[in-house]
Amino acid sequence: MKSEAVLLGTGTSNGVPSLGITYPQSFLDDPRNHRTRCSVLLRGPEGNVLIDCAPEMRLQLLRANALTLDATIITHTHADHIMGMDDLRSYCIRTGEPMPVYTLPPYQDDIRRVFRYAFEDFPPGIFIPRFDLRDVPPVLEISGLRIETRVVPHGPVSSLAIRVNDFAYLTDISAIPDEIRPWLEGLDVLVLDAVRFRPHPNHLHFDAAMAEAERIGARMTYFTHLCDEYDHSVFEATLPPHIRLAYDGLSIAIGN
Ligand SMILES: [Zn+2]
Repeated sequence: MKSEAVLLGTGTSNGVPSLGITYPQSFLDDPRNHRTRCSVLLRGPEGNVLIDCAPEMRLQLLRANALTLDATIITHTHADHIMGMDDLRSYCIRTGEPMPVYTLPPYQDDIRRVFRYAFEDFPPGIFIPRFDLRDVPPVLEISGLRIETRVVPHGPVSSLAIRVNDFAYLTDISAIPDEIRPWLEGLDVLVLDAVRFRPHPNHLHFDAAMAEAERIGARMTYFTHLCDEYDHSVFEATLPPHIRLAYDGLSIAIGN
């Protein structure tokens, strides 16, 4: 079976449409302008791996028909990337095992604090999520996938950049460190943060993302973590053909 990355969510932290805003009907009519928070399902030859747990994680994974999950990787612990973690309980109930969660050590502390109940004792018959927190290695071999990670800046905090063969996923990133540029060579598809039009201290904004997309030079680049300034069809028509806007449910084949 071929591997693939399914972009389960492609929206910025407050989701699109955002609460309390009236949008033109033409904006709402395009399903690609309905963006849940960012997470990705990696489908490998031997199983599935989830990257981040958006608040809509349950609905995202139902839509993707992800019947099993071998592990979860958390890029960082901003709310839009972890608030779906409680729903991992369904997989824990099925397997009877804690969910392996790979992330950086300080983010393991955050997860213990935010989901404290998941690490406490409960009587039999009470079903809670259980997390097996593990340091994320530079190379993780799981589900028939070879998942490489690098630590990248996300404003004042760190995030994880992820590469699987010729596919790379760089959400929530404020700059590309020079030391990882060789690691980003030879990509077929790059998924890159382009949060909004104006500069942002914690993210690549559109102009910065365009410049990085050209410099990195993947065959195709999809922009993600998008706010409501991006009206999908209208804006995408202004882009060169090798740069597209991601949307929820987009499936990307992973080559060798
Ligand atoms: Zn973030």
